[in-house]
Amino acid sequence: MAKSRYEYVKEFEQDRILLPNTFIVIRIDGKSFHKFSKDYNFIKPNDLRALKLANAAAINVKRSIKDVILAFGESDEYSFILKPDTQLFNRRESKLISTFVSIFTGNYIALWSKFFPDSPLNLNNLPSFDCRAVAYPNLSILKDYILWRFVDTHINNLYNTTFWTLVEKGGLTTQEAETRLKGTLASDKNEILFKEFGINYNEEPEIFKKGSLIYKDEILHIDVFKKIDELLKNYE
Ligand code: ATP
Ligand code: ATP
Ligand code: MG
Ligand code: MG
Repeated sequence: MAKSRYEYVKEFEQDRILLPNTFIVIRIDGKSFHKFSKDYNFIKPNDLRALKLANAAAINVKRSIKDVILAFGESDEYSFILKPDTQLFNRRESKLISTFVSIFTGNYIALWSKFFPDSPLNLNNLPSFDCRAVAYPNLSILKDYILWRFVDTHINNLYNTTFWTLVEKGGLTTQEAETRLKGTLASDKNEILFKEFGINYNEEPEIFKKGSLIYKDEILHIDVFKKIDELLKNYE
């Protein structure tokens, strides 16, 4: 096709190309989900329907983008790891993040009613997500990235479980629960749960404690520390 005299405006476009032979991680995170989860009455601290919905959306992302090696999700976020030699969109950052986040969001909305049959989406309050891409230069740092998210899942879940138990079963206000937990260690929180409420944290559902790892079309709730080397052995 002949070029028009307006074509030159393309020259203002600036692409950021993610470095070759690095592990690209795309992380999606719900926008203002603290509020969104209240608006739709998510069960605190963990609404299983919401976690399963995010998993279903993420599985569809992985199915439609073949270069995803694995994905890890917790709370309102999902990380997708691409194989280091991916040539998807010639590694253009803006194409990658916008495509991932729109496939994820489209699926999240399309699948909503399957997981929340009794809470239809309000068209004035639809879920949306932000997205970033980071290129990690080697396998060791990539593993640390995944472990960072895994450890975060544990820290947040233990805190949130104790916090909401103090509020819902202990009758504390959210402010009082926050004060009570200030400066406490993991062992203190385990003790509050067990001694005051008879809750053994170890018996909480695995999906809450360990997050969700998608590998080869399967959703696993596992100790990522134990499995990470095996999962990524092809990339040594
Ligand atoms: P931002 O837009 O900056 O990400 P945010 O409100 O989404 O703001 P996050 O740090 O992403 O903040 O935290 C997400 C919040 O969403 C959690 O703190 C929690 O309140 C809520 N949330 C997410 N997933 C669930 C879930 N499965 N069940 C219950 N609450 C959830
Ligand atoms: P990329 O994923 O790189 O953006 P693309 O195939 O979407 O690739 P674009 O340059 O965005 O390429 O071009 C969009 C193409 O979609 C158009 O060339 C046209 O064929 C088609 N298209 C877009 N809008 C319409 C429409 N309203 N009716 C019919 N065809 C359309
Ligand atoms: Mg968020
Ligand atoms: Mg978040």
